[in-house]
Amino acid sequence: MESWAWTFACGSARSKKSAAEFGPETQARLNRQVRFSKMSDNGQSDRMSILRRQMVESQLRARNIRDPRLLEVMARVPRHEFVDEKFQSEAYGDHPIPLPEGQTVSQPYMVALMLEALALEPQNVVLEIGTGSGYQTALLAELAAQTYSVERHSHLAEIARATLARLGYQNVAVIVGDGSRGLEEFGPFDRIIVSAAAPQIPPALVDQLSEGGRIVVPVGGPGGQELQLLRKQDGAPVLTRLDLCRFVPLVGAQGFPSDW
Ligand code: SAH
Repeated sequence: MESWAWTFACGSARSKKSAAEFGPETQARLNRQVRFSKMSDNGQSDRMSILRRQMVESQLRARNIRDPRLLEVMARVPRHEFVDEKFQSEAYGDHPIPLPEGQTVSQPYMVALMLEALALEPQNVVLEIGTGSGYQTALLAELAAQTYSVERHSHLAEIARATLARLGYQNVAVIVGDGSRGLEEFGPFDRIIVSAAAPQIPPALVDQLSEGGRIVVPVGGPGGQELQLLRKQDGAPVLTRLDLCRFVPLVGAQGFPSDW
């Protein structure tokens, strides 16, 4: 479980264009906004939207998350839709949220730190390991062209798929399996993000990274990890150590043999 004590860590441009004049990506985004706002029940969606903006200001911008596309998307994607009803009121709190199977949705700041390090570009093809709730998958879907997300628990994958479909995301595929080996048939990937702690950056994932690509992985054991960013430049890996963090284990062939 991510540590609960770890405390570091819109709207489209309105123009006179008719919907038919927008490209398919913009139209999909507009459709999602309509879906998000239809979820309004007795002002709940307005309340959540205020909490989301507060989260962006006090947890992200105040801690130096600067990427404007990322901040805009985190102010828009309804994080509360990805957690169990009993946790919805705390969905925008400065901490992780429990998921079934003993897993957690990461703290918003940790999600932002990892996504900022990825420096996503709209044309990127992304591999995500550890779908969990699908919250981060939704952010990736907003920021990149196509996302493949691998989850080891089929129960979590099913719930995440359903939530992502309900919110209108079409450029994501959730696959059940051991993501520590990557997803060779769909690679290479421009960006890879691992949301579970690994003993080292899995070599299979480095092999499936494009030239100029970036991979972010929490590396370390149950006592805590450090977030590592690896960039592939002229075929050679360039490593940057980012911050301390605490994740659930990556369980698999190139991860840990079992849950902690
Ligand atoms: N980012 C997610 C939370 C991830 S929690 C969110 O936004 O909700 C880490 C997830 O990694 C858990 O769901 C866990 O089941 C999954 N996981 C652990 N080892 C894995 C592996 N080898 N392959 C795929 N998923 C794995």
